[in-house]
Amino acid sequence: MTDVLVVAELAEGKLRRTTHSAVAFARGVGPFDILVIGDNAKAAAQEATALGARKVLVAQIGGGYVCERYAPTVAEVGKKGYGVLVATASTYGKDLMPRVAAKVGAGVASDIASVSTDGGKLSYRRPMYAGNVFGTAQITTPIQVVTVRQSEFEPAEPTGGSSPIEEVAVSTDPIAGKVEFVGLESVKSERPELTEADIVVSGGRALKSAENFKTVLEPLVDALGAAMGASRAAVDAGYVPNDLQVGQTGKVVAPKLYLAVGISGAIQHLAGMKGSKVIAAVNKDKEAPISQVADYFLVADLFKAVPELTEEIKKVKASR
Ligand SMILES: Cc1cc2nc3c(=O)[nH]c(=O)nc-3n(C[C@H](O)[C@H](O)[C@H](O)COP(=O)(O)OP(=O)(O)OC[C@H]3O[C@@H](n4cnc5c(N)ncnc54)[C@H](O)[C@@H]3O)c2cc1C
Repeated sequence: MTDVLVVAELAEGKLRRTTHSAVAFARGVGPFDILVIGDNAKAAAQEATALGARKVLVAQIGGGYVCERYAPTVAEVGKKGYGVLVATASTYGKDLMPRVAAKVGAGVASDIASVSTDGGKLSYRRPMYAGNVFGTAQITTPIQVVTVRQSEFEPAEPTGGSSPIEEVAVSTDPIAGKVEFVGLESVKSERPELTEADIVVSGGRALKSAENFKTVLEPLVDALGAAMGASRAAVDAGYVPNDLQVGQTGKVVAPKLYLAVGISGAIQHLAGMKGSKVIAAVNKDKEAPISQVADYFLVADLFKAVPELTEEIKKVKASR
């Protein structure tokens, strides 16, 4: 059995749901502790005590997240007998864990889809070439650093247990002192978070403008209580901000329903959504590549079909 250190992710002083995916990985590998690090870590640690860890370690670092300031503490704690250090491959995990790996001299398996034990060694299955092939990696360094794909590790449910909380020392290094947290500008949205939503409605280049995203797509998104996503073409054209991008260079989502509106289905887009349970698409071209992965494919002009669909959904919801 390998001892695992789960690096928790916080947002506004609370545990983010991403942490539960890293815990799901840890439960399958060995005994694990959770390191809660950041502003308000003490308060967030309480939440982590219900996840079945041997103990919850707390490092209170004020002043906002900066990778260079967090990595020394994660690395120092990680050197205390753990075989695997894991976080979820969110923006946070992707930013923090490579620096941690460099500090502890660990090999890395990033964005893994599953883990198994092969001849007593951990084997990591990870997508390559925009998800067209899967490679299997084993790491030979004494400490291994792993980031897990949130859409492949079903968030761990609380066990009802209550792990003890232990404070750990905050470490620093010369680089940490050279970086300063200036501020965080985040978009507040009433909608669910893209990577955590049950339904995602994404728009593509065919929407043609930011205005059309607002007036045509958003009413459908809200009628379904969905999160909004977009193709890279729509992001690059400035129709929506880039944190909505789904795909190889955007976010990876696996909702219960993914509805692609005016999106061709390029492999780089599919890499971010083809794990969705049900895929539906609206496209005026019946040959569009998205048709090959879609469970439901409506050949129609989105400017006609989307408002009609929105009205029908509103009617169904009102009748309940
Ligand atoms: C290294 C690399 C990384 C990339 N990463 C990503 C990524 O993370 N995410 C991503 O999305 N892309 C990514 N791309 C870009 C990708 O290759 C495509 O260019 C992009 O996904 C196309 O976006 P789109 O489908 O919105 O636009 P288009 O390819 O232009 O498709 C528009 C679709 O809308 C349909 N359409 C047009 N008008 C209407 C209408 N009125 N009603 C209904 N349908 C209509 C068309 O038939 C077409 O299928 C990446 C590319 C590279 C090279």
